[in-house]
Parts: sequence; structure tokens; C-alpha cells
Amino acid sequence: MPDNTPYYFQVLPIHPRPEPLESMSSYLIRLAENNYLTTIPELSRLVFPNQDAKITGRIADYPPMQFEFLSEAAFCPKNKLLTTTFHHVSKKFGRSTHPQAVSRFLSGMVSDHFRYCPRCIIEKGYYSLEWRFNLVTSCPEHGCLLLDCCEQCGNPIPFLGQILKIGICSKCNFNFGLSTSEEVSQHAQTISVHKAKQYEFLLTPQTFEKNAPEIMYQVGIYLSTLRKKQGITRIEMAKLIGVSRTIVEGIEVGEGEHVGSLVAYASYIGYFGLGFHEIFQEATNSNLVKSKKPVYKEELISKVEETIQRLQKSRKAVNWRKIARLSRISEKTLRARPIIRQMIYEAKQQEYQDQKRQLLLAIENLILEGKSITIASVARSLGFKRGRIEHNLEFLDLICKAKSNQSISRI
Ligand SMILES: [Zn+2]
Ligand SMILES: [Zn+2]
Repeated sequence: MPDNTPYYFQVLPIHPRPEPLESMSSYLIRLAENNYLTTIPELSRLVFPNQDAKITGRIADYPPMQFEFLSEAAFCPKNKLLTTTFHHVSKKFGRSTHPQAVSRFLSGMVSDHFRYCPRCIIEKGYYSLEWRFNLVTSCPEHGCLLLDCCEQCGNPIPFLGQILKIGICSKCNFNFGLSTSEEVSQHAQTISVHKAKQYEFLLTPQTFEKNAPEIMYQVGIYLSTLRKKQGITRIEMAKLIGVSRTIVEGIEVGEGEHVGSLVAYASYIGYFGLGFHEIFQEATNSNLVKSKKPVYKEELISKVEETIQRLQKSRKAVNWRKIARLSRISEKTLRARPIIRQMIYEAKQQEYQDQKRQLLLAIENLILEGKSITIASVARSLGFKRGRIEHNLEFLDLICKAKSNQSISRI
């Protein structure tokens, strides 16, 4: 097929399926390679037409905001495509799956360029998402060190480079299959295989993900029990694993938004010699939180319901502290009940969706009135403090998009 052929297909003529644990960037390269797309703009136009090719070029296996075109072009369902990203890692921890939030959650744990096993590149012909985790140091299959740059020119390997071919250096055309990689010791290999299994587990969809807030709560209780058994205080724990006390607290209370990153979790559980798999298994099987007071359940529920409604009516934010204060029930009693946790979680979700609707409406109004869209102008028309928007990546994103659309239409 000549290079300048215009592409009219919605479905690419050749659409391989993602391989097990294949990364999205690797999959995109294979799609391009199979369909004679030689540049990032060509590829981007087909799979992310609403996105600047530069953004596509920076893809780093975080779940993209839009999947429709890629899904259609590759003839591959969204769920399958999500497994080529870090989506399920964030999902398990009840964290936002917005690309920037996922990137922040994983920061320090993953490489910012390809790492690879030369033998796998020859035998399998794709890059594994598992290799992105820095703690996986050798190939679980071949026992050789994972390489992180081109052997010939020494450059790190971008996810999407100038040459869209698997295993070929974008800078010097070297074939990574020809690289030499040392075999590691048996001991190092055992550790690496163990780590790889942990990350494979995190990357693979699990049914418990839909109950993530509940599971994280259980994880928190389990970890705090382990800590207490060893007679370690929260402050001591924070020092031992090199994080702040707030983060230790956040992990133990299981509150999704404000706890630490994956590194913090890894350090905490690593301190007890445990892996992610074990922790989640413990949390999903556990009967750790059996409520001590079976009575008054209905009363508790109706009080909380009432309080949530009061807060919602007065357009106040729903949070544990306010609910405890207004219902005159201690936060501890409230938190011990799965049903209450679910109620508050749902109320928060609803609040979030309402805020998002209001925000979109405010943006629309600003456009109609011909006013500039800025964080300040949106915050003002919502009656929000600026910080409330600035702390929310999705809101920031919506404002940025509207802003750039506005400036384009003004040209
Ligand atoms: Zn290998
Ligand atoms: Zn090179």
C-alpha cells in the first residue's frame, strides 16, 4: 500500500488482538506496523482522531480518555484494550482511572521508557506491560536482565518513536533482538519472578474491583493489625517506610482519594514481607470487620440517610466528619458498618457527578456569554473556591479542553 493512500476505513484492514499482558504502546506499534502506518500522526488520526498527535506520541500505557475510535479501528472491545493499560491497577485500589491520576498513583514504580527482554522480543514480538515495573529486573521467562536502552546507540527507547516497529531503535535502527543480556543469579531470578507475579495480578482484572472501597478498607484494617501486633506506632511506621504519617493513616483508614501512591503501599506491605496478591486475598476473604453491635442498625442507617440528605439539600460536601458530627454518631461506629460505608461512598459519587454537571453547565454559559474560560471564571460562576477545581484532575481537564476549543474558535 503506498504511503500517501488516504485512510477511509473505520476498521483497520489488519487488526491483531492484544497479546497477554501486552502494553498499549506495544499494541499501537503492532497495529501501525501491520497496517503500513509509518508515522505517529497517521496512527493518531485513525485511533485518537480527537486528540493532538503529540499527545498520542506521549502515550505511556495510562488509560486514554477516549477509546471509541481505537476500539472500532482495532476491532477490539474496550475492556480488552483496558487490560493493555494500568487501568486495573488503579481500579483495585479504588483510585481514579483518569490518565493523569493513574500516572501520579504509579509514579516511582514504573519506567518512563520501554524495558525489554531481547529473547522475548524475538520469540513473542511485543513489549510486556509487566516490564514497565522497575522492580521486575529480569525476564520471568528467560532469566536474563531486562534492558532499558538501545545497545548500539545507548538511547532510552520511547514508547512511540520515529520508527513504528517492534524491537527496532527509533534513533539508529538497531534490532533489539540482537542485544546481549546477562543471565541473573538463581536468587535474583526468584525475587524477580515473585515481583512479576504480583504485578501480573495487579494488571489483571479481578471481580473484587467493583467493591474496591470496601476492599481497601479491609486492607487498611489488616495492615494496621499487623503494625499493632509488632508494637509499632503510626509515626514509627511512617519513619520506617519513609512516608508521612498522614499517608500511613490514609492507608489504614482505606480512604481512596488522599492516601499515598503505589510506592507507599509497596513499602508498607513490603515491611511485613508481603506482596499485593496476599494483601488483597486477605482482604477479600476476611471477616475482619464484623460489627460488634448488631442492634440499632436500622436506626443508624436512617440517621445517616437523613444527614446525607440534609447536606445535599444545603449543597454542602458530604464527608465522614460532617456526617459524624451532624448525626451525633462517632466516626468509628459509622465506619465499622459496610452498609454505611457504601452509603457514604455512593453519596460522594453522586456529589461528584452533580459537580461535574454544574461545571459543564458553567462552561457552557461562559461560552454563550462570550466570556473567557479560566479556572477562576469557572470557579466564580460555580461559587466554588479555586482550590476545589485545582485539586480535581478531571475538572481541570474539562476546563483545559473547553479553553483550547474556545481559543481555536476565536482564531
Ligand atoms: Zn524473555
Ligand atoms: Zn539505537
